[in-house]
Amino acid sequence: DRVRVSVLGLGEMGAALAGALVRSGYATTVWNRSAGKADDIVAQGAEEAGTAGEAVRSSRVVIACLLDHESVHEVFDPLSGELAGRALINVTTTSPAQSRELAAWAERAGVAYLDGGIMAVPPMIGRPESSILYSGSADVFHEYKPLLDVWGSSTYFGEDAGLASLYDLALLAGMYVMFAGFMHGAAMVAPAGVTAGEFATRAAPWLTAMTGALEGLAAVVDGGDYTVDGQQSLEFSSLDDILAASSEQGVSTEAVAMVQRLIHRQIDAGHGEEGFARIIESIRQPG
Ligand code: NDP
Repeated sequence: DRVRVSVLGLGEMGAALAGALVRSGYATTVWNRSAGKADDIVAQGAEEAGTAGEAVRSSRVVIACLLDHESVHEVFDPLSGELAGRALINVTTTSPAQSRELAAWAERAGVAYLDGGIMAVPPMIGRPESSILYSGSADVFHEYKPLLDVWGSSTYFGEDAGLASLYDLALLAGMYVMFAGFMHGAAMVAPAGVTAGEFATRAAPWLTAMTGALEGLAAVVDGGDYTVDGQQSLEFSSLDDILAASSEQGVSTEAVAMVQRLIHRQIDAGHGEEGFARIIESIRQPG
């Protein structure tokens, strides 16, 4: 028999998570602070709880998909007694420190706590490209893995509840800097009459191909030797031409200058002949 599961929070993401569970045949109880948001999902077969407490009491496993750390406390602080002995899987976005704080709160309350970071947008939930990162209770992760797998691929990082969030934010850091690089390129070509859409058709395959370099860069970083053969050197990686062309086009140089600073800090320290991967040392040791 499949367990009954309760989902608290039916915003865009909570509704997608609850809907996927219902469609997979899980007996699902839902609750949302404001009325009306449960109607669709109830029509699909979920049961609506009148209060958050009722939702908690309905199931041994409770999913929280609220706005932020504060809203999780607001909903669950008054219910710690009812939550005791149950599993709380919190996929609300929180910082690593906030995830650890919630894990400590749960431990004091006798609640088994698993923290999740969702690497997907709501329409992706339940599809193969959706990925959710978890950390915290290994027992909860393993016991409920079939349930978690309904939403996409599920990866467990360890008992430290902050790890999933840390990983989530590190991946988002990569995404945002890449997006900024794309926008910089689009701004450069715009005065030449190239639309952002035209530029995107070139940038998408280029950036996709360049992700093939990540493993090689990582191997150098993990090997700890930036002098190994076959790398592009820092000196060869000067971004001066890109900066000059950006200025000529009348666009800001900020996005590219940021990378140039990371490169130059290593060149100035005498490492110009070493590989580009060495810019990680500029990041590890803030200047
Ligand atoms: P929404 O703004 O659509 O929904 C927020 C939900 O939180 C609503 O159900 C809202 O209830 C509830 N809520 C907010 N404050 C409180 C409170 N104090 N007490 C009780 N309930 C409260 O956000 P999403 O569903 O998009 O996001 C939910 C979580 O998922 C967030 O942490 C978000 O970062 C994360 N996430 C979202 C992604 C996305 O693409 N949408 C991607 C990855 C993560 P009410 O209806 O009453 O306002």
